Amino acid sequence: MNTRLPLRVLIAAPRGFCAGVDRAIQIVELAIERFGAPVYVRHEIVHNRFVVDRLRELGAIFVDELDEVPDDRPVVFSAHGVPKSVPANAQDRGLAYVDATCPLVSKVHRQAERLIEEGRHILFIGHAGHPEVVGTFGQVPAGSMTLIESEADARVFEVTQPDNLAFLTQTTLSVDDTAAIVGVLKSRFPDIRVPRSEDICYATSNRQAAVKAIAGECDRMLVIGAPNSSNSLRLAEVSERLGVPSRLIERATDIDWDWLGKPRTVGITAGASAPELLVREVVDALAARFDVREEIVDHNPERMVFKLPRELVA
Ligand code: SF4
Repeated sequence: MNTRLPLRVLIAAPRGFCAGVDRAIQIVELAIERFGAPVYVRHEIVHNRFVVDRLRELGAIFVDELDEVPDDRPVVFSAHGVPKSVPANAQDRGLAYVDATCPLVSKVHRQAERLIEEGRHILFIGHAGHPEVVGTFGQVPAGSMTLIESEADARVFEVTQPDNLAFLTQTTLSVDDTAAIVGVLKSRFPDIRVPRSEDICYATSNRQAAVKAIAGECDRMLVIGAPNSSNSLRLAEVSERLGVPSRLIERATDIDWDWLGKPRTVGITAGASAPELLVREVVDALAARFDVREEIVDHNPERMVFKLPRELVA
């Protein structure tokens, strides 16, 4: 007799790997194939321990800074992007390097450069210390960009040339929080230059929309992703704000069964750097305790693919 309680599991879609993460991982794999091991990688290629450990087993060595890379080994720069000084230093040292910066982050870098050429001061909406923010600030001269982290920041910061402003954003922010911050900026500075297209990337906004689509039916939400993954943290926030108790977990062993309790419906999603394998692991862990009925709720199918760098596919 089956004594397990029934559990409906709603799996959000899209979830997990985005085109930028997929490309960055392929770049490290191809670099190891092309140059042989070890290949150095500056910073975690993407924010996921499982991905990083697998690449380490294949022959990647992760370092914090370029000076840890020997002169005769190639180095890959992470998907989050790097300040201009990093490839410049690599070039000075004659290092072979491959840049795995997501093309959507590079697009923001180019926008920042153009705005500086136009003589504007940039307000950058993002989270202090995140590697993408460090990389974007490193595209422009010191002092030409101000970080805005919250609506409160947007309300109080002072500028000397209020009619010469533009704003850009980190790619992995909360769509709702960013809209609120932008609202404050526009009301304080009606002439502020607005980016031509949305900087929050398609993967971030699609994953947030997919969570919103299932949250109303869920008693609990499990978000699979690393604690330092910005887009994963935002997914847990989005769901929590909709009134669904939500937890960010790295993998199945992190499930707090007491917290989970005896729900009728559990939602599952995964940040853009979390592999699908970990989603399956979580579903299997639920299925070991409950009589699971699984449904995939496809909100907005994705077909985005980014080209690999020419030096690795030629
Ligand atoms: S989350 Fe967005 S910006 Fe970041 S790697 Fe993926 S597609 Fe690129």
